[in-house]
Amino acid sequence: MHEASIAQNLLTIALEKAKEYKANTITFIRVKVGEFTGVNQAALEFAFDNFSKGTIAEKTSLKIISSPLLGECRKCNKIFEIKKDNFICSKCHSLEIDIISGEDLYIEDIEIE
Ligand SMILES: [Zn+2]
Repeated sequence: MHEASIAQNLLTIALEKAKEYKANTITFIRVKVGEFTGVNQAALEFAFDNFSKGTIAEKTSLKIISSPLLGECRKCNKIFEIKKDNFICSKCHSLEIDIISGEDLYIEDIEIE
């Protein structure tokens, strides 16, 4: 999987932020991971631990929050959770769905000291 490169990216962003604020250590990072990204959380944590060794993020506690895949119907505007790749509106059964959440992965919060 691509967890290693994601972990590397997260670390780079966090370290840049810390540098910007002249922080000595990064204590906490909260990451939002969309269900549909297919990211394995344990693998992501493991990779992050590995990469952060020897950096100021070494002791960071990484909190991963999984966000569900949400779709919005183009016909009736209903917002609903898409389960098991069932891309169909739960109200009007339209197949014209926009994905509005669940495909993304980003840092939601960083705490530094
Ligand atoms: Zn609909």
